This record gives sequence, C-alpha cells and structure tokens, in this order.
Amino acid sequence: MKHDRTPEILDKALNGGPVSADEGLTLFMEAPFGNLLAAAHSRRMQLHPEPVVTWIIDRNVNISNVCHAGCLFCNFSCSRSSSRAYITTSEEYHDKIRELFSLGGNQLLLQGGLHPDLGLQYYEKLFSGLKKDFPELRLHALGPPEIVHLAKMEGISYGEVLEILQKAGLDSLPGAGAEILSDRVRKMLSPGKCSVSEWLQVMQEAHQRHITTSATMMFGHVETLEERFQHLILLRETQALKPEQSKGFISFIPWPFQDEGTALSRKLGVFNQVSAEEYIRFIAVSRLMLHNIPNLQPSWLTVGIPVAQICLHAGANDFGSVMIEEHVVSSAGASYSADSQTLVKAIRAAGFIPARRNQDFEHLI
Ligand code: SF4
Repeated sequence: MKHDRTPEILDKALNGGPVSADEGLTLFMEAPFGNLLAAAHSRRMQLHPEPVVTWIIDRNVNISNVCHAGCLFCNFSCSRSSSRAYITTSEEYHDKIRELFSLGGNQLLLQGGLHPDLGLQYYEKLFSGLKKDFPELRLHALGPPEIVHLAKMEGISYGEVLEILQKAGLDSLPGAGAEILSDRVRKMLSPGKCSVSEWLQVMQEAHQRHITTSATMMFGHVETLEERFQHLILLRETQALKPEQSKGFISFIPWPFQDEGTALSRKLGVFNQVSAEEYIRFIAVSRLMLHNIPNLQPSWLTVGIPVAQICLHAGANDFGSVMIEEHVVSSAGASYSADSQTLVKAIRAAGFIPARRNQDFEHLI
C-alpha cells in the first residue's frame, strides 16, 4: 500500500516549512478535502489572527484595446487598424474617476496592453496628468509585459522604465500577464508576451524600488499540474529576494481560464475544466506554499461568490474589489458582478467580519 505523505506535509506547512512543488502537488491530488482546508485555514489564522476578510473599491480602466501580444485567451484586444480600436480619452478618465470617487474608491487599475505606438512618454504624461488633476488618486497600473515592452521600445532598462513611471505617479504594479510562469506554456498562449525570466526580473526591479506588486495566475488551460506548483515556487523565491522594507508581492490572486469564444477554445479545443473543488483545493495549497506572501484572494468574478465564500475557509483572507468595470476576463465569459453591499453580505454570510481596505491592506474605518 502506498504511504500517505499528506499528514507530514500538512504538518510541515503548519510549522511554516517550505512546501516543495512536488509536495504541493501531492496535497492537491491526495489530501482529504477537510484536512486540506483545515490546515490552510489554520495557516491563514496564524498569519491573520482576526476573523476579518478585507475588500476594496477600485476600478479597472483599459488605456487602449490595441495590443499586439496575440494572447489566444483574449477576446478584448485588436489591431490598431481595427474599427474597434480605441484609446481612452482624458474626458473619459475624468468621468470614470469622478464616478469611482463618488462610490468611495480612490484606486484605478489601469490595464495597458502592448500598443505598438504608445511609448514611455505617453504613459508618463498620462500618469502625471491624472495625478495633477486628482492628487488623491492611486494608480495600480500596467504590469511586467508592458514594462518589458516599453524598455525594448525605448532601449532602456526595466529599472529605468519603472523609475520614470514611479516619478510620474505609478503607486503599485499589478502582477498582470503572469498566466503560467512556464516558457513552454507562454509560447503557446501568448507569443508576443515577455518570458518567465523577464516577468520575474521586472518584479524584482519593482521590489528593489519599493513598488508594491501583486502576483497572479491564470490556470486550467494547457499547463501541466507540475507547472502550476512550479509557478508558486517561482513567486515564493522571488518574494524571498525582496528588500526587507519592501512589501514585494502583497497578495496572490489565481483564477481559472475563461474560455468563451477565445481562439484557444475555437482553434485548439482547449476549455476551462477547473471544477469548484479543484479551485478550492488550489487556493488551499497556495496558502500552504506561499508562506511569505501575506494575502490570498479568490476570484469571485470568475468562480462565483459561493465558491469564493468556501475559499475563505480554505486559506483566503481577501475578497478583492467590487467590479465597476472589467473587460478582458468578462469578454471571455466571466459573468459575475457585485457591488459593495453584495460583497459585504457575502463575507458576513461566510462567517467573517468584512473590513474595507486600501491598497496596502490597511483597514479603513
Ligand atoms: S490579454 Fe492583455 S496582453 Fe494579452 S492580448 Fe489581451 S490585452 Fe494584450
């Protein structure tokens, strides 16, 4: 009979030991559901002893829909010659920011894309202009693929791009474009996007400059199970390199690939097959493996609120944002939506105390 390794791995995780990719996979495949959730929840309570679940009001805005990355899972982007092509105007930003402020939020998640014509100066001017008009606005903007793209366009280093953007008003860098940190997968899914080492290098440069980042993962497409857990190891190792005073990756947000109408499903027959149980198990193993990333957020937008509520008992401690506007994931089938009241009610119904937070995960009164 095969020896059950899961009790000793769970024990190691509860004592803060580093769980390897192989051990994570073993937990994911073999640990009894109840034991796995109980261990992940205990780990969460060690890191965050109060039964509080945080949430935030922020707003997604796409700078443009023109992007030449060619991601097979994206229905949103188009070429610059397309009749759908747009660049968000100054008036549109102003209207969206005023609406955000009226709803009580102050953070814009500015999603970029790899626009062939917009250089660093464009973003510098955009960020400094928005900050001048709205000094209390926080910009959580772009991501490693855009930083790599701009560095190549301008012939300067990632660090120089980040410094210029930080000076112009960039507050934090989303972990966008991580998908799966495997070059094999990236070549298949996003031929025009940065490599694994480029993605990680940008994050290290950001952490050196005390720019807080987040880490993400989009799974359930062409990756192997091993590649999912290797992704977590790369995040953990990168986090271990950050300067002590830097927050580094402040949170981790994994979500299943949304397949509706994507080239990946139409041309390659790849569909999202991540079940609710599989998602919850992955959240739990993530909590146990990522001992140095403090916050874990399930994606209610893609898995729905009931599944996200169970994730709060599987190691997750943050419920993310109300969704005022989102285009990339929504255009591939993510159809859930929620306002402040819905999120607060969902957190309470799951047995936790809701606390609105800011970008640094500080509770707001
Ligand atoms: S997912 Fe983002 S980077 Fe990829 S094609 Fe769409 S807009 Fe571009």
